[in-house]
Amino acid sequence: MFFFTSSKLEYDRHNDHEQKQLLAEVFSGVGWEVPRLLDAMSQAPDFYFDRTSRVDIDKWSKGRSVLLGDAAYCGSVGMGTSMALVGAYVLAGELAASTDDHRAAFARYQAEMLGYVKENLKPLPGGVNGFLPRSRRAVWLRNQMIRVLPHLPMKERMTGSMERAASAITLKDYAG
Ligand SMILES: Cc1cc2nc3c(=O)[nH]c(=O)nc-3n(C[C@H](O)[C@H](O)[C@H](O)COP(=O)(O)OP(=O)(O)OC[C@H]3O[C@@H](n4cnc5c(N)ncnc54)[C@H](O)[C@@H]3O)c2cc1C
Repeated sequence: MFFFTSSKLEYDRHNDHEQKQLLAEVFSGVGWEVPRLLDAMSQAPDFYFDRTSRVDIDKWSKGRSVLLGDAAYCGSVGMGTSMALVGAYVLAGELAASTDDHRAAFARYQAEMLGYVKENLKPLPGGVNGFLPRSRRAVWLRNQMIRVLPHLPMKERMTGSMERAASAITLKDYAG
């Protein structure tokens, strides 16, 4: 994966070649293994390029349609699969619990999930700059921080909040 920050880019969404060139320019001269990776990218048949973005929505259902997983609540750091699976379990359970009223089941599904989802969509400390540091010095600092973190007395403050978010739902034992 290649990630970079920039102001809004204009590019042809259907032109893989142009997008590959764009990436090659952004990462030219970086060194390390990057030239080899750029070369592999230029030949990749399943190349995908997009802006990282998230659409926040208030209501996950309308009529007989309901959203689940990334379609409803994407954008967590490392919890997307868990939320999709937990959401599938809760949605199936709520539908089974009220087979004659899907609207009520959809509303309960969202109510059951909302706190857990909100907890897992909180940005990491440092936000985008923590994920994509803006300078070599900042990259170095970030890497040192990750190296020493497991040995710090306050490590639970970071890892503990992730564990708390991951467990921020009590799953019901849906009958049937
Ligand atoms: C690079 C990357 C790294 C990630 N790392 C992690 C990680 O470490 N841990 C983690 O928990 N999560 C991670 N995630 C997030 C995780 O992959 C998603 O949150 C999760 O896959 C969401 O599951 P989903 O079922 O909602 O959607 P998806 O897995 O995207 O499934 C949607 C499916 O619908 C199909 N589809 C789309 N349109 C149509 C259509 N019109 N008709 C029929 N089918 C269609 C798609 O082909 C796809 O198979 C990562 C995501 C990315 C992109």
